Amino acid sequence: MMYVSTRGKAAPAGFQEVLLAGLAPDGGLYMPQTWPELPSLPAQVPGPYAAAAAFVMAPFMGGNPGHDELFALVSDAYAGWSHPDTAPLTEIGRDLFLLELFHGPTAAFKDFAMQVLSRLMERALKRTGSRTTILGATSGDTGAAAVEAFRGRQDIELFILFPHGRISDVQRKQMTTAPEDNVHAIAVEGTFDDAQNIVKTLLGDEDFRTRHALSAINSINWARIVAQTVYYYTAAAKLGPGARPNFAVPTGNFGDIFAGFAALKMGLPTNRLVIATNENDILARTLETGRYEPRDVMPTDSPSMDIQISSNFERLLFEASGRDTSFVTGAMADLRRDGGFSIPPATLGPIRERFTAHRVTREEAGAAMNRLFQDTGIIVDPHTAVGLAAAQREQAREKGPTVVLSTAHPAKFPDAVKRATGREPEVPAALQRCLEGRERFEIMPNSATAIASYIDARVPRSGGAGGFI
Ligand SMILES: *Cc1c(COP(=O)(O)O)cnc(C)c1O
Repeated sequence: MMYVSTRGKAAPAGFQEVLLAGLAPDGGLYMPQTWPELPSLPAQVPGPYAAAAAFVMAPFMGGNPGHDELFALVSDAYAGWSHPDTAPLTEIGRDLFLLELFHGPTAAFKDFAMQVLSRLMERALKRTGSRTTILGATSGDTGAAAVEAFRGRQDIELFILFPHGRISDVQRKQMTTAPEDNVHAIAVEGTFDDAQNIVKTLLGDEDFRTRHALSAINSINWARIVAQTVYYYTAAAKLGPGARPNFAVPTGNFGDIFAGFAALKMGLPTNRLVIATNENDILARTLETGRYEPRDVMPTDSPSMDIQISSNFERLLFEASGRDTSFVTGAMADLRRDGGFSIPPATLGPIRERFTAHRVTREEAGAAMNRLFQDTGIIVDPHTAVGLAAAQREQAREKGPTVVLSTAHPAKFPDAVKRATGREPEVPAALQRCLEGRERFEIMPNSATAIASYIDARVPRSGGAGGFI
């Protein structure tokens, strides 16, 4: 399996290179050259979730690691989940299901990819005797999952950038209470988009990237998407043969829902992919108008979706345009130069055929959360509530089972939950621990140069082949 860049100017790369580099050297995102065919899980899978994971992920890795080694690796990765079913599916209404993705160590779905990614990376570095510096921007949950997955790992320094004052206290503490020296949490005076821009700038600086053997762990890293396709398969398998579910996905950076699209491309019978956005509704506007145009980011109750530059959307543009790399390159240049780009009808058509987008306000999400709580006693987190409200809107027009991806545990967002339901969610033991630790982080200006010097001062020259093996 080889990978190509959405911008067409990078040499095809194997999985190991894609894993460690994150972003392609031409600034594009890596995509598999062809899609493996995988319409469903075979009858003997699902057994344990890890068996499904190894089965779905193996074709993307081209034998390195091979299926059996991968199975051992993912079994270890998912051993820390607090629910025996790993990704349980719960019926909450007529044809309506919650796919619970918050039973991992940091109580958000990001653990599914990050626990696998850290093990794949450590394995790759060991084999080549090299080290890496990992740089990530986070709207909250990615950083927490990354700190948990990478703390104390050898040959890896982790720098996590988060928007200062724009994430919940629990999210911040999950990133800042790890005592390990290889973890560096940085509060950037700006938004998530600013933090993500710094990461992209530094990854695009060839000298800096090589000096530090830089890797990216944001959802632009293909390995994360692959890990997230698995639960679309296990959910569909639980609904039984012949089910053609709709998936409603609370969306920010378009990574999680793109994993669903990947499953669809591999042949998993899927009806509609429902993009659920909060007031930061760039994707809903884009689907409606054909014009992709970021606006200012507005803080909401679902901070992990307070994003206006939805990086993985580039992957969908690539697919929907028939892999037209000059269109994608032009669109991204227009975005930088003019602050937006237009999607021609021939590309917008295929997107609308598969995706619906619903914008859900804070009030609507709160009302959906409260109604579910009154009806069933179940409390969902504010991101899931956005997905739930979108799913209910979609159900008014689309038949069949609808699966809402429940992306975080409500205890990560106690204030918003209390406002909507009058209840304080119970805090799982893992979260409780981090709420008590001592915090350690740096507040820094929104400046790639400042962050680069900070990293330079803290990381000795990274040896070895680093990010480009
Ligand atoms: C990251 C996150 C999202 C958005 O996922 P994307 O892959 O960025 O679209 C939604 N909900 C929660 C709780 C998250 O942490």
